[in-house]
Amino acid sequence: MKRRLTRRAVIMLEAALRQFPELDGKKITIGHTRAHLGSALLPRRPEPEAKLTIRLKVRKLTYNTIGHELTHLAQWLSRQSAGAARIPGGEKQCDVWTLARSRLFCDDAPGYLKLPRAVRENWPKHAASVRALCIAAIRKRKTHRFYLKWLEAEIKQLGRRPLSDASGRKQLSLPWDG
Ligand SMILES: [Zn+2]
Repeated sequence: MKRRLTRRAVIMLEAALRQFPELDGKKITIGHTRAHLGSALLPRRPEPEAKLTIRLKVRKLTYNTIGHELTHLAQWLSRQSAGAARIPGGEKQCDVWTLARSRLFCDDAPGYLKLPRAVRENWPKHAASVRALCIAAIRKRKTHRFYLKWLEAEIKQLGRRPLSDASGRKQLSLPWDG
């Protein structure tokens, strides 16, 4: 496995895995793909000795891609748990929970979450604000069924705001927060 991964990819994987304590002690096979940025292969049902596999494209590998695929494993593992610990299934959900988990995974824009062009093209400037909104959306999910719609609408607003150094985090007000 490691022979096919570059040293850089292995270092990135180890750093990414540290953000997933629930994957501790699980056997994860890391494969290589040329076709996609990444993919996760999972058994249909949760089972104790399940084989968990992710495949990654090593060229231009980002933490966001690694985090996204590991979140798929976490989604699958959390299927047995209820309430807040449960990560809902789905690609957009996977993006939201990945960005929320750690700043590490904000090095590149997510692939499935709807982002206005202004946000996608200026991702490094908006990443912290989008992450804050993802965290807020996860909290909001407890009481709002349409938290994803809410999140995408908020991100859309972000794209309309003028970009200045002071914008983003400071102007971002989260009324339900605390
Ligand atoms: Zn995915």
